[in-house]
Amino acid sequence: MVYIHVPFCRSFCVYCDFYSEIACRGRDDGMYGSYLDGLCEEIRLRRRETAPTSGVNTLYIGGGTPSVLPPSAFGRIVEALGCGPFDEFTVEVNPEDIVEKGAPYVRELMKLGVNRFSMGVQSLDDGILRWMRRRHDAGTARRAFGILREAGAENVSLDLIFGLSQLTPEVLSGTLDGICELRPEHVSAYQLSIEEDSDLAAMVSDGRYMEASEELCALQYGRICDRLRSAGYMHYEISNWALPGREAVHNSAYWTRAPYVGFGPGAHSFDGVRRSWNSCELSGWSASEEVLGEAEAREERIMLGLRTARGIPASWCRPEDVRRCFADGSLVTVGDAPSPGSAVCGECAVAVPDGLSARVRIPESRWFVSDDIISGLI
Ligand code: SF4
Repeated sequence: MVYIHVPFCRSFCVYCDFYSEIACRGRDDGMYGSYLDGLCEEIRLRRRETAPTSGVNTLYIGGGTPSVLPPSAFGRIVEALGCGPFDEFTVEVNPEDIVEKGAPYVRELMKLGVNRFSMGVQSLDDGILRWMRRRHDAGTARRAFGILREAGAENVSLDLIFGLSQLTPEVLSGTLDGICELRPEHVSAYQLSIEEDSDLAAMVSDGRYMEASEELCALQYGRICDRLRSAGYMHYEISNWALPGREAVHNSAYWTRAPYVGFGPGAHSFDGVRRSWNSCELSGWSASEEVLGEAEAREERIMLGLRTARGIPASWCRPEDVRRCFADGSLVTVGDAPSPGSAVCGECAVAVPDGLSARVRIPESRWFVSDDIISGLI
């Protein structure tokens, strides 16, 4: 599992606090060249870490906005890694780049082995997109999706953002209807968060923006769940939906704590015990790390596993906690009705319905409050 961070964007979105440099036309080549030189050198120095250790053979190039890069840059990255082809090779793209560069650009990436595109659409409402300071409008997003399909992309994920105070039910429904009409293989929907160093944080603190209430966010999340379910999408992780068989392989592996290696300024790596990350700067390089103890690893396994529809073995939690959560409906057994029956799990002595495994999960109706549930289990 390899992740590459591309730290360039054409402009900054209002809510974003990721490390990224402004990619200006005309100055691109020199800046990309220095970045690629550094990235390839980092890959060379850490080559031993790219040996597959988890059986997950994926490459994810994210950002920033990787689609500002020319195809030759992706070629250099693939060549430096020297470990393809990948079962899943995802590149994050922005709609305006795809419309500007067209189907030939997409085909060039596919020739290099890219077989999945993740596009940041965020909304299909022009007013919301302007407020977010996105560079595309809804028409551009639709055209970009058409170009991906025209070029032969068969696995496309679209990102949405909810949790805005100005997002009315009508506007959200319009976006969801539009997404369902496009019918991507995968949809991610993330709740807007106010990141400390973002422009949005300044707008909140000086009163130019009022945050959405938790109740409103929960309503919007519920609408997304309902609309995507009715369109045949499986809700397999708190923020992710897929048509059957189209779950993201790379991201799903993160939720099982599979080892991964990340290259680039903002990338993180994890070898199963030690988590490390690069300094978030293009100039100069340094790395930091933390080693997780057994107690922290257990907490992380529970936290990540309970974000998913697969859930976790009940035996990872204290039996009294599982019984309490069964009783109040915040945990259910995987694969069947929520009511615990008379059978008792041999592993953990927790009552589970007859004939079912002792895997447990948070039901979709409680996913919005999963943080509270999980904190009571770890
Ligand atoms: S949200 Fe994405 S496109 Fe927008 S500034 Fe951040 S990294 Fe760049």
